[in-house]
Amino acid sequence: MTTNVTTKKLLAVEDSRPVLKLIKHVGQRAGYVVDTATTLAETQALLAKDTDYDIATIDYNLPDASNGEAIDLVLSKSIPSIVLTGSMSDKVRDSLLAKPIVDYIPKETTQALLYLEKLLTRLHRNKHFKVLIVDDSKSVRTYLTTLLKRHNFQTLEAEDGTKGLEVLAQHNDIKLIISDHEMPNMGGIAFTAEVRRKYNKDEIAIIGLSGADAGSLSARFIKNGANDFLKKPFCHEEFYCRIIQNIEHLEYVEDIQRSANTDYLTTLFNRRYFFSKIPTYVKKLESEGKPFSLAMVDIDHFKRINDAYGHDAGDKVINDIADKLTEHFQDCVIARFGGEEFCIFLPDYDELHAGEELDDFRRVISESCLTYDNEDIEYTISVGYTSRNEHLAALVSHSDEALYQAKETGRNQVLCFQ
Ligand code: GH3
Ligand code: MG
Ligand code: MG
Ligand code: MG
Repeated sequence: MTTNVTTKKLLAVEDSRPVLKLIKHVGQRAGYVVDTATTLAETQALLAKDTDYDIATIDYNLPDASNGEAIDLVLSKSIPSIVLTGSMSDKVRDSLLAKPIVDYIPKETTQALLYLEKLLTRLHRNKHFKVLIVDDSKSVRTYLTTLLKRHNFQTLEAEDGTKGLEVLAQHNDIKLIISDHEMPNMGGIAFTAEVRRKYNKDEIAIIGLSGADAGSLSARFIKNGANDFLKKPFCHEEFYCRIIQNIEHLEYVEDIQRSANTDYLTTLFNRRYFFSKIPTYVKKLESEGKPFSLAMVDIDHFKRINDAYGHDAGDKVINDIADKLTEHFQDCVIARFGGEEFCIFLPDYDELHAGEELDDFRRVISESCLTYDNEDIEYTISVGYTSRNEHLAALVSHSDEALYQAKETGRNQVLCFQ
């Protein structure tokens, strides 16, 4: 496991100490180091020392600043700011939204703090999210870019559908596209349909932009593959809500796919995923005239490890070998097939190369020792493999046969199917 060592810093400005304590708690839960101030003067003192904050939460009303002066101060230091307000008139709300704040949260109920926590987590995640804006109007592109950057998104721009497709071809990690309708060369509808030929709705979300007077345009966008639409002109609160809703959809699908394809204990791929992915891989290598091998790996006398050290220690051993397999076979596809049985697909490996690599791994395992609960646990593995040019089911069954032979003839060895 790698740990994220970069520190995220939050500045919390709030005069009510109980509320400040809650904000600090919420900030820490979202992974931030939190500095606090209860007045404008304290905020000034803090910012005189350091302005290196990722985000700030600011109370609109402070004893020495009753009209949002702290907001202007923090914004002047280019720190993204979330404003927390008590009851608020429409006039105050409008004046707040005219400022380049990230969001405002009315402190009406405890929901406000839950919303804050979600927002803080979201802002950090957004840094990894790439959004493509396709619009022929430079000013619209600039406006949307400004709004998105305020929420930490990475942004790209294109001035029409044709350019949009070019940018998409250069960046395979774009997750969201916001597309205008009327543009020269290629309009929004044709562009959306073209994107959908390659990417489905769960891979890239598309939000169409449509003028308020064109009633059926939103439906046309959606029928041609857009996930959502936004009517112009829009207030930026609605804009953020739509963006977040669409991103959350992508993340849910990604989460579901991940849990359907991976093994819970080791996070390696599971058997189902392996069988769905490898056949196309085999075909590709065959068409390129490249070799490939497949290996079954099984821990020797694993039952004895469970019996001697307990089931938790057994799990630890399974995770240990999963980590080592991942490290050792970086260019291969590895799956956990069952209890202590793993399958490796080795692309570009002929019989000799696969045999050497697998035996090298077997040696690494036999020479390593795992410490768990003050016990030193040593274990070995047996491996069966094949490098024949045949379909997946045969590769697996032949490797299994070789593995059986390896077990029968002494264990701690690698055998090739003959
Ligand atoms: P061999 O050398 O012949 O492979 O002997 P073995 O004891 O490793 O093989 P066997 O297949 O008889 O036993 C596998 C054991 O693995 C039985 C089962 O209780 C245990 N096991 C299966 N899944 C898990 C798991 O997720 N965690 C732990 N701790 N044990 C598991
Ligand atoms: Mg236009
Ligand atoms: Mg075993
Ligand atoms: Mg087994």
